[in-house]
Amino acid sequence: MIAAASASSPRLRFQVPMAPRTTWRVGGIAERLFAPRTLEELAAFLASPEVVEPLTWVGHGSNLLVRDGGLAGTVICTRRGPKALEQRAGGTVRAEAGVSSARVARFCAEVNLAGAEFLAGIPGAIGGALAMNAGAYGSELADILAGAELIDREGAVRYATPDELELAYRQARLPAGEWFVAAHLALEPEDPETIRARTRELLSHREATQPVHLANAGSVFRNPTGDHAARLIEATGLKGARQGGAEVSEHHANFIVNRGQGTAADIEALIERIGKQVREHTGVELEPEVRIVGREP
Ligand SMILES: Cc1cc2nc3c(=O)[nH]c(=O)nc-3n(C[C@H](O)[C@H](O)[C@H](O)COP(=O)(O)OP(=O)(O)OC[C@H]3O[C@@H](n4cnc5c(N)ncnc54)[C@H](O)[C@@H]3O)c2cc1C
Repeated sequence: MIAAASASSPRLRFQVPMAPRTTWRVGGIAERLFAPRTLEELAAFLASPEVVEPLTWVGHGSNLLVRDGGLAGTVICTRRGPKALEQRAGGTVRAEAGVSSARVARFCAEVNLAGAEFLAGIPGAIGGALAMNAGAYGSELADILAGAELIDREGAVRYATPDELELAYRQARLPAGEWFVAAHLALEPEDPETIRARTRELLSHREATQPVHLANAGSVFRNPTGDHAARLIEATGLKGARQGGAEVSEHHANFIVNRGQGTAADIEALIERIGKQVREHTGVELEPEVRIVGREP
């Protein structure tokens, strides 16, 4: 299907397939999708009458299951922008929502600032990393966040402190009707070779432990306090379990991979089956980490 563009705003397109915009490679059609290049374009669009509610914000779709029936309203997609990235005084880096987390890690290393290395292997954009308080190997975005810029439904931007955002394990409290447009990171100067060596180590550990060659969305469930979702799923005998084209990864039991022909319905059914079986076998209620949006077909 060819998505048509709006005559008045070329960044706005209609009937846009979401499957190519999620790392699971599934999902239906977005009725409207706006992909700004700059913060100014985004603010002007939000202030315009072209916005149809509800709004769904999507970065790289690496933590997102879009149902096969697609998305009503307007998707704001930050894959193309805003993407400004700059070093500021006092070891601070400002990254707009569309900059990839990996790019932020590389940039910080280039300007000899340490603390963002864990972002190197996390797929997705900084807006998504803020929304999820993304983290790995004992570090999370909250550890280096000086503040964030939020945009509201009318396109006005304001600065919020980390306290206001209540960042916790894989979650942030975003005030209703506001979304992330930039992160301000507070980092420490360090020798570039040390930063690069630490980054290489984290990336090679990731390659060894994750199914990097099949479509997936990272960890499907949050780790329950004091335990690991992957351990519970494996103990329940679900490694390799299939539902249509979706499969519990043989490599990492908390990943669901799309073997090629999987649908969002297959993946959601497998998520429900895992939750039910783990509850029955262990009494633990697993909570999804991935965000599920959209309509049933
Ligand atoms: C192979 C693989 C490995 C992964 N490893 C990790 C890991 O180690 N650690 C980790 O934390 N995560 C991991 N993830 C999950 C994912 O990469 C992160 O959660 C990432 O930060 C999501 O960014 P995104 O741009 O893809 O967000 P999306 O998936 O597009 O969106 C995620 C959520 O954030 C919201 N959102 C996106 N942008 C904005 C915005 N600008 N303002 C407000 N809300 C917004 C969306 O509405 C959605 O609810 C992994 C995923 C994959 C595929």
